[in-house]
Amino acid sequence: MCGIVGIVGKYPVNQALYDGLTVLQHRGQDAAGIVTVDQDRLRLRKANGLVKDVFEERHMERLSGNIGIGHVRYPTAGSSSTAEAQPFYVNSPFGLALAHNGNLTNAEQVKAELFKVARRHVNTSSDSEVLLNALAHELQGDGSMQLMPEAIFRAVTNLHRKVRGGYAVVALIIGHGLVAFRDPHGIRPLVMGKRETALGTEYMVASESVALDADGFTVLRDVSPGEAVYITENGELYSQQCAENPTYTPCIFEYVYFARPDSTIDNVSVYASRVAMGKKLGEKIKKEWAHLDIDVVIPIPETSNDAALQIATELGLPYRQGYVKNRYIGRTFIMPGQGERKKSVKRKLNAIWQEFKGKNVLLVDDSIVRGTTSEQIIDMAREAGANKVYFASAAPEIRFPNVYGIDMPSANELIAHGHDVESICKIIGADGLIFQSLPDLVEAVRSQNPDIKKFETSVFDGVYVTNDITQEYLNKLDASRNDAKKGNKTALMAGNLETYNEGN
Ligand code: AMP
Repeated sequence: MCGIVGIVGKYPVNQALYDGLTVLQHRGQDAAGIVTVDQDRLRLRKANGLVKDVFEERHMERLSGNIGIGHVRYPTAGSSSTAEAQPFYVNSPFGLALAHNGNLTNAEQVKAELFKVARRHVNTSSDSEVLLNALAHELQGDGSMQLMPEAIFRAVTNLHRKVRGGYAVVALIIGHGLVAFRDPHGIRPLVMGKRETALGTEYMVASESVALDADGFTVLRDVSPGEAVYITENGELYSQQCAENPTYTPCIFEYVYFARPDSTIDNVSVYASRVAMGKKLGEKIKKEWAHLDIDVVIPIPETSNDAALQIATELGLPYRQGYVKNRYIGRTFIMPGQGERKKSVKRKLNAIWQEFKGKNVLLVDDSIVRGTTSEQIIDMAREAGANKVYFASAAPEIRFPNVYGIDMPSANELIAHGHDVESICKIIGADGLIFQSLPDLVEAVRSQNPDIKKFETSVFDGVYVTNDITQEYLNKLDASRNDAKKGNKTALMAGNLETYNEGN
């Protein structure tokens, strides 16, 4: 998963982009980048690392201008080299920079087609560079110097026809403005807002509403699935539906795990949806697991806190934060290689023995992916003296890989792939294991916004809303995501603009 921001301001936007990226840091800790436009120059800084480490004062000073976009990266299909940090740049037409969150499911075909019809070479394995060139190709149009909003919307319409997958995009066109759009299914989130200043209205788009909150922008609305928004350098806002058959199927995993609880996505408060997940799961435990002699409910911090508290309320049991999280370490899942991942659970969490000794505990997590975390956390509970250790997951069994930008490993790495609940319970070493059902999860999120009729739920049910996922595609994805291959790719791209990469 990645995070994106874009601002068309009346004053320099470097600080606001930086602050926006900082609150989106949970969406990706691998690399960060900002591009601004000052006069007719694009100014770019991108490198591997956290936002606070990538941008030093000297970089910020160079990121001048009142319009810009930013990105935090969590690697999925591509590698984790600096060359594949975003935003990407291409010089024609006009000078374009682009950043995106998501994953294209037909990147290879689009890439080949671009080379065939337009002799456009894509120099990295990043599908963002493919998207950028595909957009550039569509914007080429009739070659006129004046790019009207209709021409931009036509370009996005053509792009939607050609590319497949889940994508939320921000792009800058030198001399024109900022374009932002969302895939026709609305899989990846994108929200827009505004802020009034003495010089006029400023606009911002971002992956999550928290970025707007942090920068003092008021949310206007979510960008609709398939819609494109164009904000000119002077601050005129245009928008248009650019997809032929848009559907509203946001990714349900944003609510389960990815987004911050203080964000609202597609008019659903992430926090409220997690409380509702807890309520549903609590009701299920009460109904189907009444015989469990639970003494205390303990969340695995922090994503599951809100659900766990609600489960405790439903069950009339105490809720105790029995695990302490070291805040100064990255998320476990994000470390490359399973060995690293295993080690880091202990580095990240520690148990308060008083909450475990001699008790029957119900541990709650937002989801179980590989099962590595759950297994070690259960071990930790036993080491701390727990009597019985039950485990509840606020999301159902994850059985299928994600193809829309979430780094859900290949099917074989998922603990629920090919295992039923009983055997998963055995593998992770729990005395009882309870999963949320998919209808309950959907209902929990939908109860916050009944206008959404369907969610993208492929990791649970294997139904891919883009209708283009073949076994061959999944096999290829499997190979490219193989842990062993991660980090093995080489940096290739040579920038041809003012780039302040590592070492500058
Ligand atoms: P595991 O079952 O060991 O793979 O770890 C599951 C934990 O990782 C859950 O507690 C989630 O909080 C977290 N998690 C779930 N999905 C992801 C993801 N795509 N990226 C990073 N962490 C995740």
